[in-house]
Amino acid sequence: MAKRLAAKEAAEQVYAKIRLDAETWKRRGIEPRLAVLWAEGDPASAYYAKAKQKLAEKLGVEFELHAFPASVSEAEIAERIERLNEDPAVHGIMLELPLPSGIKPERLESLIRPVKDIDGVTPANKLANLTGQAGLYPATPQACIRLLKHYGYTLEGKNVTLVGRGQTVGLPLFQMLQREHATVTVCHSRTPDIASHLAHADIAVVAVGRAGMITGEMVRQGLAIIDAGINEIEGGRIIGDVALEACDHAAAVSPVPGGVGTLTTAILFENVLKAVALQHGEVTP
Ligand code: NAP
Repeated sequence: MAKRLAAKEAAEQVYAKIRLDAETWKRRGIEPRLAVLWAEGDPASAYYAKAKQKLAEKLGVEFELHAFPASVSEAEIAERIERLNEDPAVHGIMLELPLPSGIKPERLESLIRPVKDIDGVTPANKLANLTGQAGLYPATPQACIRLLKHYGYTLEGKNVTLVGRGQTVGLPLFQMLQREHATVTVCHSRTPDIASHLAHADIAVVAVGRAGMITGEMVRQGLAIIDAGINEIEGGRIIGDVALEACDHAAAVSPVPGGVGTLTTAILFENVLKAVALQHGEVTP
């Protein structure tokens, strides 16, 4: 049975540092503050927004929920982002997805001031991640790497196969893995034989959004798998992209829930504290 790469301990370590940093800023008269914009309509996004609110309280980070009805227009959200950009008391801004149908997130995300963009979604931060310059990098790909390092995996010189090249996980993770000096293979929906690319991998990261797509027969013994997939199945249960039986073959698999998602939330708050530092001229790459 594969080792379970749970994120709880790594997340607790991130929380401890956030609490300390938040305290330090407060002693200087600065209260780290996160603003989350959320529109009604999707139960999962409501859950994630509330979860961030609860965690903010635990971590000593101020929190504002900007809730909109499902009938909200793109212009209304844009106006709120502009207002939060100008508010010196707000250090981090995040748009909870998905937005009501008809509103595309890209334009709204690009309005967020880069130093307040805690999920690294603005063009400036995407470029920073590409070049390795200081900035706020996206949280989920960071979580994948952090989870591996927490369990003692090294990336330099390793063969890493990514399954998924999406904007939120696969693509930015590809760029981060280059900086870690891994040799990266990227699979996607047009890749005919994903198993052949997993066969020579030391590590695989799967970020597709298809329950059970990585089956036992695709996995060689000794492979470590980070499962970033989130899929809601009947009864509302959340599962990843890796089928249960694959866990009999792999050396290690991160659980869903309790893996990448848990650490992603922690890193979003870590980015709030980085955002505070950036806004006060103290760059912490
Ligand atoms: P996305 O933009 O939709 O990208 C999905 C990727 O999967 C695409 O590159 C697509 O290929 C590829 N794909 C689709 N079907 C495939 C198949 N049959 N075989 C191989 N590749 C296939 O998704 P995303 O935003 O990157 O998110 C990916 C997953 O991560 C989702 O389940 C999402 O919910 C999850 N996620 C988790 C967290 C977290 O905190 N844990 C955060 C963000 C996202 P093409 O490029 O060819 O279309």
